[in-house]
Amino acid sequence: MPSNGSDNNAAIVVGGGPAGLTAAISLAEGGVDTTLIGLRPAKPDNRTTALLAGSVAALETLGVWPSCADRTARLRTMRIVDDTGRLWRAPEVKFSADEIGLEAFGYNIENRHLIEALAKRARNLPALSIVEDEVVAVTPKSDTVTVALRSGNTLHARLAVGADGRQSLCRIAAGIATDERRYPQTAMTVCLAHSRPHHDTSTEFHTPSGPFTLVPLPGNRSSLVWVLQPGHADELATLDDIHLATIIEQASHSILGKLEVESGRGIFPLAVSVARRFAAARIALVGEAAHVLPPIGAQGLNLGLRDAATIAELVVAAQRDGHDIGGADVMSRYDRMRRVDVGSRTIAIDLLNRSLLSDLLPVQGARGLGLYMLDRIGPLRRAVMREGVAPAAGQPRLMRGEAL
Ligand SMILES: Cc1cc2nc3c(=O)[nH]c(=O)nc-3n(C[C@H](O)[C@H](O)[C@H](O)COP(=O)(O)OP(=O)(O)OC[C@H]3O[C@@H](n4cnc5c(N)ncnc54)[C@H](O)[C@@H]3O)c2cc1C
Repeated sequence: MPSNGSDNNAAIVVGGGPAGLTAAISLAEGGVDTTLIGLRPAKPDNRTTALLAGSVAALETLGVWPSCADRTARLRTMRIVDDTGRLWRAPEVKFSADEIGLEAFGYNIENRHLIEALAKRARNLPALSIVEDEVVAVTPKSDTVTVALRSGNTLHARLAVGADGRQSLCRIAAGIATDERRYPQTAMTVCLAHSRPHHDTSTEFHTPSGPFTLVPLPGNRSSLVWVLQPGHADELATLDDIHLATIIEQASHSILGKLEVESGRGIFPLAVSVARRFAAARIALVGEAAHVLPPIGAQGLNLGLRDAATIAELVVAAQRDGHDIGGADVMSRYDRMRRVDVGSRTIAIDLLNRSLLSDLLPVQGARGLGLYMLDRIGPLRRAVMREGVAPAAGQPRLMRGEAL
């Protein structure tokens, strides 16, 4: 466990969500003495994640995939359906994984199962210690970073990885500001059982309040992410299961037949928020501590896993070369390596989301034209699919299936 600054190779990861667990496992697998500090979540995260091909490769390489593969559902087809009812409506666009030579775009899993599989792997790594506690202060100094815990203990390390989510204490400690835009939207999440098969197809209905997206789960089950006006989301979340199932069935045009709502509903106010730097002062940010995106196109955690894989790759290499693992070189290289991937996806998703909310005819026309072109121009559609699954600018080693 990191202590007293004398251990030059130690790293601390703050936050035991999926991004923090992946960062800690990747560092420890690469031989870096790592401590993960996090609390068990007060209530289960009832989101699901569509893990894209690179994320699956990384989880396979880290020995996590065998513990969760049977809880995932393949995504072979993605449909976008314009359900805005507006004057200029876009054509339906269908993306098929086989068009770009893939068996599937990715695999959808409930976050609680993913976290369970990651935590199981984390507990079995000798280089990784897990401390169940809350971090109350993070203090960067010239050659170490000090982390104070609610229990009164203090830890020191060369590097802190901030995986502590939207309200990141690590980000504030590093003096990093964010660019943030809040949307007048809330996502309600719920899992459903249905009478008709989903055929490995995810369907995103674009409605005037935002997307209504059904994503396959194993068997005749799917997850729903319904983006609504905040008041409407709160109202729906309080309905009993039968009443809510009827409303969801109507909104889904009954494409999955009769629905049953499972227990647990999530409410997530939507925003786009990106840190102005991804690392400074011996603190590197990963996952939602670095970027929060609206749930469109299944990008958020896939970006977070690429953050985790990238910082681990840089830190493992620095340790092997005898360099300072939290030094300015690692900090600036990490910042540079994540900028294009995070920036380009943030801009695209923000524009798409705002075009749904806009009442301006030219904006609706541009969105419709974009989707029309995707529908009609095969090479463009395939290029968008390839970029959606993996950044053209290159992926970290773990995403290519290479151990660190
Ligand atoms: C409705 C919805 C659907 C989504 N669907 C997808 C999808 O299909 N695909 C995709 O890639 N992404 C998706 N996302 C995004 C994805 O869910 C998030 O990117 C991901 O869950 C964030 O993980 P994280 O580990 O960064 O943060 P979190 O899961 O928020 O974890 C942060 C952890 O840090 C801990 N923590 C915070 N402060 C402290 C402290 N001081 N001390 C100790 N611990 C602390 C918290 O307890 C928590 O466990 C979706 C998001 C939403 C809202």
